[in-house]
Amino acid sequence: IQVRGTVLWDAENAAIGALVVLRDVTQLRHLETVRSDFVANVSHELKTPITSIKGFVETLLSDDWNHEPNILRFLEIISQQAGRLNNIIDDLLTLSRLEQKEGHVMTEPAKLQSVIETAIYLCQLQAGKKQIKIDCICPEDLELEINAPLLEQALVNLIINAVKYSEENKKVLVLAEKKESVVSIYVKDEGFGIERKHLERLFERFYRVDTARSRKLGGTGLGLSIVKHIVQAHDGTIRVESKLGSGSTFTIDLPIPKEH
Ligand code: ADP
Repeated sequence: IQVRGTVLWDAENAAIGALVVLRDVTQLRHLETVRSDFVANVSHELKTPITSIKGFVETLLSDDWNHEPNILRFLEIISQQAGRLNNIIDDLLTLSRLEQKEGHVMTEPAKLQSVIETAIYLCQLQAGKKQIKIDCICPEDLELEINAPLLEQALVNLIINAVKYSEENKKVLVLAEKKESVVSIYVKDEGFGIERKHLERLFERFYRVDTARSRKLGGTGLGLSIVKHIVQAHDGTIRVESKLGSGSTFTIDLPIPKEH
């Protein structure tokens, strides 16, 4: 609480009262902290690959550098780290565009099955490298009022995570079902699972259970935050259930408009 006070005087300079203003700044302080934490996080995330690129470039440029066989390896690392910077910036731009729209994304009727199938198709390459099979179960005639490219991206983020955080030869299932007032889309994996204590913070920007593992797998730490924004822009909700060692299920609930 912020407190400000003034004494009120009359024309003869005699105190006739006091004015005290109490202002609840909890929300404001919270926003300030979130903002400064975010800037600190972004700076840190960008600085890590830049430091690495700078180090390798300086080594390659140094006079006493004559270990030819390593040049290719160094260039590969530089290219990887530049790719990482690119991914972080792409994700930050996506997030900022979604925030600007603040729930006003364009929607039109689309068949959910084809949205899911496109998303699965876009993940096949990565899944194939680990012999992970992705199945889809979705009613054929289910049409929803959505922004198809955005929902596709949300599903790609969830499916890619399911693939990234699973051992080889596992399965991923994307299942959609129509209930009374919502359509639920489940992305279910048989992967590493997540400890209960992390679940609550999972959708925060840059929150990761294991930062080193996430980075190694090419993650930016922004994927789930983007998913949450996309789902919210559709007036939907997202939740996660998980058990360490046996897998995770992310569930998106999208409301069905009354006339359907
Ligand atoms: P990242 O780029 O690190 O994958 P995300 O925002 O997509 O960022 O996910 C945040 C964290 O949540 C990940 O770092 C990982 O620890 C955890 N996570 C997300 N999806 C899964 C999953 N399907 N199985 C296990 N852990 C997951």
